Amino acid sequence: MDCPACSHALTEIQVGSVKLDVCAGGCAGIWFDAFELQRVEKEHSGIGDALVNVPRDPALQVDFSFKRSCPRCDDIKLKRHFFSARKEVEVDQCPNCGGYWLDAGELEKIHAEKVRAAEEAHLADTNISMAAIRFLYRQRLQERPPL
Ligand SMILES: [Zn+2]
Ligand SMILES: [Zn+2]
Repeated sequence: MDCPACSHALTEIQVGSVKLDVCAGGCAGIWFDAFELQRVEKEHSGIGDALVNVPRDPALQVDFSFKRSCPRCDDIKLKRHFFSARKEVEVDQCPNCGGYWLDAGELEKIHAEKVRAAEEAHLADTNISMAAIRFLYRQRLQERPPL
């Protein structure tokens, strides 16, 4: 299987129970088959070192205007789109097999986006309970019988 971004041969690596294909010594991108990304995230509550430290050819320039083909499917082009509704990270996905191609650094960005989303959700929860406590407290004050 060849890298969709730089045509370097992909190397298979094992991360937990998931086998991934990385462009080691090339552009350091990572191919995830459908659902592998979710499995890696679930098993590692984030990202493994092996995926962050993929060896990269420093001289290699990735041409982002180049139309990328799915490394799994014949004659299917990857589609670039935002990974989530937050529209922070763009990824390439195959419309046929559902696999993802992440360029070097995109996995970290997706992870950072998730962490931020979780923090914001937590913060929103905290704000709601603070508001509820203040509301109850005010009610208590009002219910207090006059002296
Ligand atoms: Zn590559
Ligand atoms: Zn495909």
